[in-house]
Amino acid sequence: MTNLDAVIKGFAAHYGSDPQGVWQAPGRVNVIGEHTDYNDGFMLPIAIPQAARVAATRRDDGVLRLHSAQSPQNTGTQNTGTQNTGTQGTETAELRVTELSPRTVGGWAGYPAGVVWALLDAGHQVGGADLFFDSDVPVGGGLSSSAALECAVAFAYNDLYRLGLTPTELALLAQRAENVFVGVPCGILDQLASSCCAEGAALFVDVRAIDPPQGRTRQVPLDLATAGLVLLVIDTEVKHAHADGAYARRREGCEQAAALLGVPALRDIGREDLDAALARLPEGELRALTRHIVTEDDRVERVTALLDAGDLRGIGPLLTEGHASMRDDFVISCAETDLAVATAVEAGALGARMTGGGFGGSIIALVEREDADRVADAVAAAFAAQGWKPPRAFAVTPAAGAARLA
Ligand code: ADP
Ligand code: MG
Repeated sequence: MTNLDAVIKGFAAHYGSDPQGVWQAPGRVNVIGEHTDYNDGFMLPIAIPQAARVAATRRDDGVLRLHSAQSPQNTGTQNTGTQNTGTQGTETAELRVTELSPRTVGGWAGYPAGVVWALLDAGHQVGGADLFFDSDVPVGGGLSSSAALECAVAFAYNDLYRLGLTPTELALLAQRAENVFVGVPCGILDQLASSCCAEGAALFVDVRAIDPPQGRTRQVPLDLATAGLVLLVIDTEVKHAHADGAYARRREGCEQAAALLGVPALRDIGREDLDAALARLPEGELRALTRHIVTEDDRVERVTALLDAGDLRGIGPLLTEGHASMRDDFVISCAETDLAVATAVEAGALGARMTGGGFGGSIIALVEREDADRVADAVAAAFAAQGWKPPRAFAVTPAAGAARLA
């Protein structure tokens, strides 16, 4: 059974009729550019073949019904030193769209309900729907299962209610759903990647110019297969409990540093001005945070230039340098991601880094096709030697962004 058949069947079995349509929105990995989004900077994500699908039928009685095929075991996170990210079972949530307000819907249903709220709050005349979700994006693995869910709903509503919004506008609404309705202060990276990426390309994002007409945000060709390369994702399946507070603290630190430097955001400090800027900051954390953001923006631009020039192998060392910056300056890696990155590089990866917000989740490794198994096996062996749960390794190719499937 194809993924499309599965979600249509699931909808029919659950709601007793065929859906009006099916929409899909992918997860993402960020090739480079971590924590730069809320500093108004640059990122370079790709969409991955793993995606959330939603089968949907519009309802004009204002009722919103939500059901997910994923079991609670699959949508929480496991492992020691971890927390459950809040999926509360898969019972059908039934809500009235006029009663939606921020922070009132707990658990996983808050993500899709938040998108409907964000549309209404922006003045769009939308009503209810029956929604059935089926997703193969690993949950809580740093691959953005939450944005996939949100963007699938945003694209479905855009068609069901003929809103005529662009992928970029839908991404911004999905981000607002997560920020305000769910209460997670994420940047725009995840939703923009899920909505706007194209097959065979990475998306260069300049947060100050995210609309394609503004010229800066654009598709950058990334044809791994023709180059004989593989981008491995190695999901440590670990999520450390302090992630949320640590994210907020990093974000505040960046804002503080920008204020002390008298700029709107750290993006406004160029690589060539870094040393002078650091000298104006107090020694310690603010300097380290600033160094990561400024060098990371620079790495995104250098990686993009290498891809434009067709030098795919050349980006490897910049990926590994980016990991060191997250480990030593931004201090968001952890023992599991550090070991996975170090082992992958020792085993012959061209470059490797943690991807996503940090404190666990996945790493990516750029490898020659013939080295892929060896690198994955080396990381698995290193985890086994520590007595850790085996990580999950799989190859990804740059996939298409969100779209209607049926
Ligand atoms: P990620 O890095 O995967 O986006 P988050 O913590 O941001 O991690 O989002 C994970 C949350 O998204 C889950 O705890 C759950 O509430 C929700 N979620 C994601 N995928 C699904 C799904 N298929 N079914 C139900 N809830 C999901
Ligand atoms: Mg998320």
